[in-house]
Amino acid sequence: MAIADPARDWVHCDVMDNHFVPNLTFGPLVVGAVRRFTTALVDTHLMIEDPVTLVPEFRRAGADQITVHLEACHDPGATLAAVRAGGARAGLALKPDTPLAQAERWLAELDLLLVMTVEPGFGGQAFMPGMIEKIRAAAAWRTTHGARYLIEVDGGIAPETGRRCREVGAEVFVAGHAIYGQSDPSAALAALRQAIA
Ligand code: ZN
Repeated sequence: MAIADPARDWVHCDVMDNHFVPNLTFGPLVVGAVRRFTTALVDTHLMIEDPVTLVPEFRRAGADQITVHLEACHDPGATLAAVRAGGARAGLALKPDTPLAQAERWLAELDLLLVMTVEPGFGGQAFMPGMIEKIRAAAAWRTTHGARYLIEVDGGIAPETGRRCREVGAEVFVAGHAIYGQSDPSAALAALRQAIA
């Protein structure tokens, strides 16, 4: 299964298991339904405990990119290897309290580094300004080591917070509430695009 072009817009799927995070959302079945509705890159953010055995199912459902949480993986290297073995792009996510240094041994092999800008688990939370320094450090590490990962930010992203993340090196912006929670989602999306252009 070929993967969608990462240079285009992505559809971000937040999978929560009521275990790694308190909320519960959906699994591979819904990711498969999303797949059938879009040619965009399906970016699957797994907020689930020890996801290694579920990775192939999400890939079969059509996930182009699978991001796992460092804090949730019993063996992060094996989990990322399972993602790559299925042909998906491999992402690693860090909760706000997890320092970049804890992820260092995997950074060079990542396609995506997801810097959570809120505590994962619920939408509509306020952006954590303390994450700006982590994004800046992730961008610096990438340059120093010639790594290829894109830096994605997720949580409280709106035009102003997106712009601040962009300035320090983020290039993938996940927005939920800032788009779908507005009376005119199209205008909100246009405003976000303009802010991060
Ligand atoms: Zn997410």
